[in-house]
Amino acid sequence: MSAGCVFCKIISRELDADIVYADDQVVAFKDINPAAPVHILIVPRKHIPSLLDIKQEDEALVGHMHTVANEVARAFKIEKNGYRVLINCGSDAGQIVFHLHLHLLGGRPLLQTIAKGKEV
Ligand code: AMP
Ligand code: ZN
Repeated sequence: MSAGCVFCKIISRELDADIVYADDQVVAFKDINPAAPVHILIVPRKHIPSLLDIKQEDEALVGHMHTVANEVARAFKIEKNGYRVLINCGSDAGQIVFHLHLHLLGGRPLLQTIAKGKEV
């Protein structure tokens, strides 16, 4: 838990979110400003500020985030048509929430160029 972190507050249920999946390692919830019909954020319970901060000990966790992305994609029935996962790292990538998260996007054909989880 990191004080002032919006995703830590969602994980601790201090803040409301539309949670679609949770286990002992990650929580997944709908993005408040969706860029696609399905836009889910997969967030580790552990507060890791960005991809740049992951350590060797986090490798299994980062792998698990992708396994959960697959499960959520199936739950939202976008696995057949396909989907995109992305992680923004740092300011040039447009990262605005400094708690590691994976965007899962799908539900329509996606353009090739994408920034901040939004197409440009
Ligand atoms: P990023 O640019 O990768 O840091 O993306 C952060 C994402 O978090 C954005 O797509 C926001 O719409 C989303 N977001 C911010 N606050 C909330 C919240 N309280 N509940 C759900 N999604 C949020
Ligand atoms: Zn946090």
